[in-house]
Amino acid sequence: MKQRQPEDIRITLLSIVLLLTAGMFLPPMTAAQQTDSYVYWRQIGIQAARQAVGMMRDQEGIESLLWSLSDDFIVLTNAGYAEIDGRGTMGALDGLSSYLKVSRGDNDLIEVHSDAAWPLWFAVYHKNSGFCAYLQVDPAAIDPQEDRWAALPETLFARQELARIDAAHLYANAAELSQKFNDKIFGGNEFRIVTIVNGKTAGAPLYAIRAFEFHDHYCMGVTSGLLMGRYIVEFFPLASGGKYFVQTVQPWCKEDALVVLLNTTPGKKGYAVSLATDDDVAGWPDWAVDGATRSMDAATTIIYRLNPASNRWDGQVLAFVWANTGCPNHGDSTINMVCNDLWYLANIDRPEDFIKVLREFELPAGVTPQSLARPGIDPILALDALAQ
Ligand SMILES: [Zn+2]
Repeated sequence: MKQRQPEDIRITLLSIVLLLTAGMFLPPMTAAQQTDSYVYWRQIGIQAARQAVGMMRDQEGIESLLWSLSDDFIVLTNAGYAEIDGRGTMGALDGLSSYLKVSRGDNDLIEVHSDAAWPLWFAVYHKNSGFCAYLQVDPAAIDPQEDRWAALPETLFARQELARIDAAHLYANAAELSQKFNDKIFGGNEFRIVTIVNGKTAGAPLYAIRAFEFHDHYCMGVTSGLLMGRYIVEFFPLASGGKYFVQTVQPWCKEDALVVLLNTTPGKKGYAVSLATDDDVAGWPDWAVDGATRSMDAATTIIYRLNPASNRWDGQVLAFVWANTGCPNHGDSTINMVCNDLWYLANIDRPEDFIKVLREFELPAGVTPQSLARPGIDPILALDALAQ
């Protein structure tokens, strides 16, 4: 064995001194960024993660699967949106990341949009076992001072539930799970957690996850928006310097996906919506209904694009073609949605199969889509009149 030389000892001592004094030379910003509030909420994220893993470890047969770690978990939460007595909760995201190795960049830390007043919740899904631990923070357990040194109380979580929610298990145990969902085992977040988790594990692409987060769940409606958005980008592309304007005459969940994919937000005057009634649809010209017996199969969204060279707008009137997915009725809307979602997900790279172009047009010079979005104008009738 090699004898330790005096030089080695001196170097070791020097290293220790350097380590001990390193904090004194850190830029002051580092200390400032780690506010009490941030550290407090980060600890709550860690506690949620630790408790979720403990719940799974207690479940027979799961222990051996835990702690292979790295890519084992998907975490959903509304931390960062939810507030408790006006306090931000964003720091919890970093606590979840540090304990479970999930992250924004790896797309397994999913930030679900919510109202600030909604309860703060965490859902930790273990991919190999299909178990999901749900934890919901009790606002009364939050330290009003957000003291980073305060011990977190045992009553931190008002609700803790563990359930297996992978698609195969859902289908095989539909009646049992349906009862659990009706009992709101995940605090009323059952639909959003179960649909997003199963979409993510089935390989939903990055842009789809962004839309699920914004829409706060994964449904066939948001799927139709994903397919329409992909169709627009691929088959109705912009020229360099061009821009889109979206005008929907029959809105549903798809609008949230279109906003995410195209960034055509209403706030930037890139999106207009009117709510056509069945009577309005019945009054539309034949080309906009195209034999549809349900309003939702008629014209729904008009996509316009500006050609910067000519300063003219052209456009397409689109309908969505709903598929027969062949999914059986499992007797539960959440489980039925998972089956339908996964069918559409398997076909997400074929948007052209689901979009019907009812009319292509170019607006006269000087006419903008915004002028067809003024109050009291039915854009379908206006486009029809322009074509006369
Ligand atoms: Zn929806």
